[in-house]
Amino acid sequence: QISFTQHCRQEADTAALAQKLASSLSHLFQANQSAHLNIFLKGDLGAGKTTFARHLIQGLGYEGRVKSPTYTLCEPYPLIIHSKTLAMNHFDLYRMRDPLEWQEAGFAEYFDEPGFCLVEWSEKAEGTLPTFDIEIHLRAGADENERNIIFQASSSQGMTVLDKMNT
Ligand code: ADP
Ligand code: MG
Repeated sequence: QISFTQHCRQEADTAALAQKLASSLSHLFQANQSAHLNIFLKGDLGAGKTTFARHLIQGLGYEGRVKSPTYTLCEPYPLIIHSKTLAMNHFDLYRMRDPLEWQEAGFAEYFDEPGFCLVEWSEKAEGTLPTFDIEIHLRAGADENERNIIFQASSSQGMTVLDKMNT
């Protein structure tokens, strides 16, 4: 188990942390090109989950627009890391109603392929979703633009990534 909290005064600090995570993840894929990581983003509406996801996806080299997958439940982004194509699937499960939706959309397969599943509102799919490697919990601070971000790993892969982030 590894867990640490980072304080952000403004969105630029959140962006810098997402960038740091991106570098660490990219490092992991250098060692293991077929790795798969589940990253859950937690926090209230407006906490900054999508904002963090956007900076992370762009930090991993995606140059297009990153929008919130609120209505589509999932937005796929192709990534190229160390010359290999990897899948980045960004989920927002806020509107998911029942596990059948999940099965019909074929989302389960996304959790096996090399790359990432980045999940907002994983709470809505409890029992259907696999466990996380890394959980990122964003909490509001005293000021409007202030956030406290708690990083937690629950697998050895996740720990490797978070350890690297701190060095
Ligand atoms: P969520 O996906 O958790 O509902 P969003 O990322 O859509 O939240 O919205 C967060 C909002 O808060 C954005 O408008 C963003 O610009 C703003 N914001 C202000 N300060 C921060 C910060 N330090 N970190 C992340 N977002 C911030
Ligand atoms: Mg969101």
